[in-house]
Amino acid sequence: MSQRIKIKALLQTAPAEQEVNVKGWVRTFRNNQFIALNDGSTNSNLQVVVDFNNTDEALLKRITTGAAISATGKLIASLGKGQTVEVKATEIEILGDSDPEKYPLQPKKHSLEFLREIAHLRFRTNTFGAIFRVRNSLSFAVHQFFQERGFVYLHTPVITASDAEGAGEAFKVTNLDLLNPPKTETGEIDFKQDFFGKATNLTVSGQLEGELGAMALSDIYTFGPTFRAENSNTTRHLAEFWMIEPEMAFYDLDDNMDLAEGLLKYVIKYALEHNREDIEFLSQRLQEEEKGKPQQERSDMTLLDKLQFCLDNDFERLTYTQAIDILKDSTPNKKKKFQYLIEGWGADLQSEHERYLVEKHFKKPVILTDYPKEIKAFYMRQNDDGKTVRAMDILFPGIGEIVGGSQREERLDKLEQRMDEMDIPKEDLWWYLDTRRFGACPHSGFGLGFERLVLFVTGMGNIRDVIPFPRFPKNAEF
Ligand code: ATP
Ligand code: MN
Repeated sequence: MSQRIKIKALLQTAPAEQEVNVKGWVRTFRNNQFIALNDGSTNSNLQVVVDFNNTDEALLKRITTGAAISATGKLIASLGKGQTVEVKATEIEILGDSDPEKYPLQPKKHSLEFLREIAHLRFRTNTFGAIFRVRNSLSFAVHQFFQERGFVYLHTPVITASDAEGAGEAFKVTNLDLLNPPKTETGEIDFKQDFFGKATNLTVSGQLEGELGAMALSDIYTFGPTFRAENSNTTRHLAEFWMIEPEMAFYDLDDNMDLAEGLLKYVIKYALEHNREDIEFLSQRLQEEEKGKPQQERSDMTLLDKLQFCLDNDFERLTYTQAIDILKDSTPNKKKKFQYLIEGWGADLQSEHERYLVEKHFKKPVILTDYPKEIKAFYMRQNDDGKTVRAMDILFPGIGEIVGGSQREERLDKLEQRMDEMDIPKEDLWWYLDTRRFGACPHSGFGLGFERLVLFVTGMGNIRDVIPFPRFPKNAEF
């Protein structure tokens, strides 16, 4: 038998009646004659034409939606519209039957909510095939971007005893008997007897460990899973998500912003070049979906336009203070349309404010810098004004915050003073403080939420649809 060829390659092959073999899953079977076959290598199906007069009736019955088949035949030019070549089958073999009565994926439009319930099968739809091929390209492009620039890919621990943000939203990791945990004399759970001899959790960020690597390797990045037990049922939050966290020695905040903007543009461009067909399909899908929305909620740009626009324009850079002035004077604030009104300096920005700045005011990606120290983490470098820190958040249309980063505080006294103010135990982070004792230097880094990036590039509306098996409150199926 001739060697199997993937459909993506076959569709680009010149037809010369050569014998070919393809394998894949049946999407549809029309008129006992035309199989639309897909093997996941491309969004396009291959048409396989069956000679039904010379094919066993029993075999024809087994060519059903969802069945896995192997087809051998001649590659010929197609007369039908929508494809240039097709396979005239001489032999069909059923590799795996699929009972059409029971197969949940019918050849019709299913809602994204329904598909989430059958996430084990949703890869077989055009939409999810496209999403996960784009996700794959984006992650490859992330590595390529950093590798081209001499960054070292560093694997930071998944189980840690530190909580980078000092916030209580980490998942606990324990081996203690939950029904009967050992207690200390004062009646608390005795984590000394736990597996690691102390209380541990799943990482919420690899940053602190990443900084340690940067203090020797200069430029590092992490790209791994991150866990947050935040009970936020939003379209932007997952309990398990992937984060890219570069840390760079000798970078100030401007260098940091340049790198982040460069990274985002690089990976978007990569996807546009390597996944054109998938993104065109997703762009089309989004336009269809938007038809069902009221006029004012529709976007005047297609997904393709939005991605191109992002590449062609500099991100708008301004300080938090400037942003507050814009928001204070904005129409939705004056007309009390914001759920959280901006009264003055110091307020934490909500997603409605971020989206106003990006989508209504500047109409392009925005980088906000120099936030009040009260609403940011202890490790951010303090400005001379005594009020703000060298933080930066990148805000994207339709997404809100996609990147959060800062120049890190390298001065030991300032760092310790801030930890004291924020009640962060210095003993626990002795190793982190050591980098400020031995060869400290200006350095910076950021975290890019990978699924938020995939959301942007695919034009999807819910973060649960851009990770294969989403983890969120009350859901850990599959
Ligand atoms: P948000 O305010 O949106 O909750 P954050 O301030 O908690 O974000 P960081 O701690 O700065 O976010 O994390 C860095 C990046 O990780 C964010 O910019 C975002 O892209 C992503 N991110 C944060 N939390 C989540 C989550 N629960 N699910 C998916 N991505 C997330
Ligand atoms: Mn958060």
